[in-house]
Order: sequence, then structure tokens, then C-alpha cells
Amino acid sequence: MPERTIYLDHAATTALDARVLDAMLPYFTTEYGNASSIYTLGRHAMQAIDSAREQVADILGCRPTEVTFTGCGSESDNLAIKGMAFASQKKGNHLITSPIEHHAVLYTCQYLERFGFRTTYVPVDTYGCINPDDVGRAITDETILVSMMYANNEVGTIEPITEIGRICRTRKIPFHVDAVQAGGSLSLDVVELNADLLSLSAHKFYGPKGVGILYARQGMRLLPQLQGGSQERGKRAGTENVAGIVGAATALHLADEDMPKVMPYIIALRDRLIAGLLTIPGSLLTGHPTDRLANNASFVFEGVEGESILLNLDLLGIAASTGSACTSGSVDPSHVLLAMHVPVELAHGSLRLTLGKDNTDEDADTVLAVLPGIIEK
Ligand code: PLP
Repeated sequence: MPERTIYLDHAATTALDARVLDAMLPYFTTEYGNASSIYTLGRHAMQAIDSAREQVADILGCRPTEVTFTGCGSESDNLAIKGMAFASQKKGNHLITSPIEHHAVLYTCQYLERFGFRTTYVPVDTYGCINPDDVGRAITDETILVSMMYANNEVGTIEPITEIGRICRTRKIPFHVDAVQAGGSLSLDVVELNADLLSLSAHKFYGPKGVGILYARQGMRLLPQLQGGSQERGKRAGTENVAGIVGAATALHLADEDMPKVMPYIIALRDRLIAGLLTIPGSLLTGHPTDRLANNASFVFEGVEGESILLNLDLLGIAASTGSACTSGSVDPSHVLLAMHVPVELAHGSLRLTLGKDNTDEDADTVLAVLPGIIEK
């Protein structure tokens, strides 16, 4: 058994930062109040949530009242899309998204189709890029929401969000951005991005699992998807996960602070992996060659099954992913690669390596040393 896991699956999840854990710990033990209680212990919990909300708003460039804490990135996507759709039914029934979205968006649109909504899937090119003009052309009088991802979770392609947002703003169509993979590595300034709604998930940037964030610009009407208490200004019922919320805000703040130092380091590691692994015969980089997430090195290998690459890497203590982590275990080729017109045979041989701040040069050396042999085998 290898001594240490070489973890190269940071798009799936990240380890909790020790500084985040320190910030969270009091809210599990001494500061355990319910934020809805009016006595001191409850007020402490509410104060912690308020300052977490301010911290998040500061990074997003929005008002604290525009920030809602949810139970995960999927819930933020669901609340944004279903919440907007059901609240805007009188205006129209048309949604626009792309075929490379995470299932939290795609399946939500499919669910809404059962209630009479229609979805247009704007195509992507072979790099997984959306053409903003195609979004403009897809807008009709019935369109009530455009939902596009900031960066793709499988191939790392960064989408032209600011430009898509500009088109939506001009046409007065609310624009939701699934920024779950962008959190901690790209600017999240909602004004710059022209975003009306934006989803994040804390466990992608060294925060805790089970905490999502939804930015909803003032004036966006969302139909709540959970009935119960009036927490989160009536947008999301349920006793707040105080420790998780404190952890999410601390993690986002630290990720933002660390970005100038961490990003160049990760980009250098990524580019070394890409250059080295592209020397393997039959290998192909997936996603955009330059407009890609700092940590994403993803490939397809001809004549190889992604699952068997993963198992061989696992035997050597290396954790990676084939396609999306959320769909691995299924033998279907990735919907993202198919939408990018990667041939089915090649799409079966996909490998995603996603780096994090604790990866080292030696980690990259190890992968570069063992992977050619695994593919050859
Ligand atoms: N959106 C994207 C782009 C993702 O990559 C993920 C998770 O991988 C999600 C949404 C869902 O986030 P969560 O796991 O917090 O529900």
C-alpha cells in the first residue's frame, strides 16, 4: 500500500483547510445556539452567520442581503433555476442552457420540462466553448432564464460568462451562472460577470461539504423550494448550519487571499503534466488549450478504458477521475465529451487530473513516470 495518496481529484472535492476547521470548531461545541433563538447563545449564532454573509458578499461584490446559504452546490442550482422558473411562469416557459452543464442543472431543466417548460441547449464547439451569439439567437419572447456554467467540471473550459451576461442584460433576461468549479480560482465579481444569480459550493475550495451559496441580485423573484421556517429571508427554510456557513465564508475568503500565490504554482504543475502526458501515443487534451481552469489537465487516450486507468492509478495510491466524479461508476461515456463531438470510442478513455494547492513537483513526477506504462499495458 503506498504511503500517501497522491490526490489529483480536486474538482470532485478538496480537503478542509486547517484554518477553516479552526474557525468552524466553536460552532460545534460552545457556540451551539440556534440562530433563530433570541437569547445570547442564539444571537451569537446569528452574528456568526451575518458576518459570514458579509465576508461572502465582499468577495462577490454584492450586498449581504443578496447572499443565501444552502445545503450544497446542487441545491443552489436547483433553487436558482426552479425558483426563477416557477416564479416567472406568467412571463414565459423557455429556458436556455448548454449540453455540458452539470447534472444539477441539466436534470433540473429536464424536471421542469414535466411542468410545461421548454429548454434550448446551446451547442458547444470541440473545446467545449459556448458562442455568446448563439445564446443571443436562442432568446425568444418566452425566455425567462439563461443558465450557463462558468467553468466545466470535466474538461476545465472557461466560458465567456461576461459576454453572455452582457447579452442577457441587454435583452433583460435573468442570467444564472453555475460557478461551482470557478470558486477559489476565478474572479467571482458578479458585477463584472453580469450575473443575476450565481451558485457556489464550499467543498470545492477547501471548505466543508454540505454548504452551498446562492447569490441572487436584488429584485430576482425566486419561489422557495423548501417550506418551513423563514430562515435566509424566506428563501431557504431550515435551521442554519452555522459551523458550515462560517467554514464556507472563511474558505472563500482564504481562497481569494491565497489566489495570487497559489494559481501560478498550480498552473506550472498543470502545464508540466499536460506537456508530459501528451507525449503518450494516442493521447489528446480535452477542453480549451488556454482558456481552462488552472488546475485541470484532462485527456482522452485511444483504445483505453478510463475506469481501468483509474484502477491502475489507485493501486499506486493516485486518486484521479474519468469524466465527472458525479457520474463515475456508470459506464456511459461523458455527456460533456459527446457534446464536444469527441468520438464515443475515445470518450470512453477519458482521464481528469485536477490539482490542488498541496500537490508537489514530486506528485507530477510520479504521474509522468507511471502513466505511460499504464496506458501501454
Ligand atoms: N455544478 C458543478 C459545475 C459541479 O462541478 C458540481 C459538483 O461537482 C455541482 C454543480 C454540484 O455541487 P455539490 O456537489 O456541492 O452539490
